[in-house]
Amino acid sequence: MVGCSNTAVPETMDCPPTLPGSESLPTLTRDEWVAAQQRDPAIQRIVILKESGKLPTRTKRKTESSEVQRYLNEWQRLSFKSGVLYRSRITGDGNKVHQLVLPRQYRAMVLRGLHDDVGHLGKDRTLDLVRSRFFWPYMARDVETKIKSCERCVRRRMPQGARSVAPLVNIQTSQPMELVCMDYLTLEESKGGISNISGDHRSLHTLCSRNPNPEPDRTDYS
Ligand SMILES: [Zn+2]
Repeated sequence: MVGCSNTAVPETMDCPPTLPGSESLPTLTRDEWVAAQQRDPAIQRIVILKESGKLPTRTKRKTESSEVQRYLNEWQRLSFKSGVLYRSRITGDGNKVHQLVLPRQYRAMVLRGLHDDVGHLGKDRTLDLVRSRFFWPYMARDVETKIKSCERCVRRRMPQGARSVAPLVNIQTSQPMELVCMDYLTLEESKGGISNISGDHRSLHTLCSRNPNPEPDRTDYS
């Protein structure tokens, strides 16, 4: 089950456990989801209104927060299953799915689980994954913001030339040994016992030593 323990909601509302990203999502029991929805002020408000069974008048709706108004637009689609608030949705292939109304405190975690942890998919695919399980107001906007601010996605969208941090430049020196660039390499020991090689590729100075005590014993200028 996605986002819930096995006892949280009826079996008919289970999402297939093979859906990508499932393992990164919050796992709560039914009672924990009920409590989490109660802690979210907008969901708490819509729960009270749904339980009353009376859709507020247009005038009264305007006095609610913008988030509550978005929930009110979904009035007919919202329902309780075992005390947890869900929104029903008809998918493109005609199937009805129940989206858990996700409290604000879990949204970042869900976006991370269904974007970062499934390979940084694009906006549409990420939104599909989120929609297959959850609902909250401005969900599409939040997915877009998440992807626009995702460092890995931003870097991938950059043109190749724009990815370099700084241009390569020549380093100027004024005297010997002012700049030393050291490479160190350990190879399989040669017949002569040489295995450690260090070199300054700028001065073309190479130092070789025997193993196991890397005492320098030969200097080559190559
Ligand atoms: Zn990303």
